[in-house]
Amino acid sequence: MLEKEILLIPGPTPVPPRILRAMSKPQINHRGPEFAQLWEETQAGLKSIFQTKSDIMVFPSSGTGALEASIVNLLSPGDKVLAVSIGVFGDRFAKIAQIFGAKVQKLDFPWGEAADGEIIKDALKKDAKIKAVLLTHNETSTGVTNDVKAISEVIREQDKLVLVDAISSLGAIDLKTDLWGIDVVIAGSQKAFMLPPGLSFVSLSKKGWLAVEKAKMPKFYWDFVSLKSSMKKSQTPYTPALPQLFGLRESLQILKEEGLKNNFKRHKILASATRQGVKALGLELFAQGRFASQTVTSVKAPPGIEIKSLRKIMREKYQVVVAGGQQRLSDKIFRIGHLGWVDKLDIISLLSSLEMTLSELGYSLKLGEGVKAAEEVFLKVRDA
Ligand SMILES: *Cc1c(COP(=O)(O)O)cnc(C)c1O
Repeated sequence: MLEKEILLIPGPTPVPPRILRAMSKPQINHRGPEFAQLWEETQAGLKSIFQTKSDIMVFPSSGTGALEASIVNLLSPGDKVLAVSIGVFGDRFAKIAQIFGAKVQKLDFPWGEAADGEIIKDALKKDAKIKAVLLTHNETSTGVTNDVKAISEVIREQDKLVLVDAISSLGAIDLKTDLWGIDVVIAGSQKAFMLPPGLSFVSLSKKGWLAVEKAKMPKFYWDFVSLKSSMKKSQTPYTPALPQLFGLRESLQILKEEGLKNNFKRHKILASATRQGVKALGLELFAQGRFASQTVTSVKAPPGIEIKSLRKIMREKYQVVVAGGQQRLSDKIFRIGHLGWVDKLDIISLLSSLEMTLSELGYSLKLGEGVKAAEEVFLKVRDA
């Protein structure tokens, strides 16, 4: 392939050459001292990204594996769970709990909007038997970020466990695991961590570990207790995904060099430039206001323009890859991922190719208007 592709989907995200190089190392003994050091180094880095003192469990799986692991390790069949959903990934978390025998009460909010803490509070007050709440931090299917800080406070007041899917946010949007008292935080490698798919991460509070002791859902490979006992020796119970862990060490190093605060700020600026650019072209955002995500922007299809054709032209003519909508949003929106290894010029390329594509599809616009609006955001930050 001669062309360089600009991958702007909400995962997998582009992988920096530094990480690719780190991954292509000879394998090591996963029960030897070199591995122990690798494990300890990555633990230290992960804890700073999770903003927690707890150890971080690492699994060789995509994010969904860790969602399942969290369910089966914290719950027993028959346990009541409140599953808060604002889109496809909230639905998935609920479904996993249901399949393993939890009594799931769904609390759905309209797609494109965030969850309302007051409504969650009412639901919890109405049913004292609810043991845990499932929550999505950043709903990738709609481009909406929940106010996890405020919502987890409500949940803690009611003394329930809170499990947060932070797969498309951790490392790009602020989430203070310990300070906000979140029992379970789940993340994945192929989003803000800039790694290929294939690693998932789980942090667990003290209260979470107490729940693990009592949980009776079946598990073997995903057993937190056996992982914890191996981790005491800086090992894993089963063969770890070594190349992924080599890559993780480099990813954490890159994140440390940038600094978490700068990283959050960069994502915020990229998101703002994307939104301003899209709006300047007369397109409508799907997620509105302060809940619009810092990592993924969802855009409504302009009247008369097919998402499929738009994405095809962008990909084939300009090598810019954006995502479509999922499920009932499939022909309604397209989604731009701006997380991980993404910078200003990626957003400029995106808007520029979007302008040329829309123009080819007969949409009336002034070339350069989207790019200009994004540039204004970047210049404002530069001059601030
Ligand atoms: C990507 C993602 C997942 C997990 O998907 P996998 O394909 O299993 O990695 C789960 N939740 C959210 C919010 C996501 O963005």
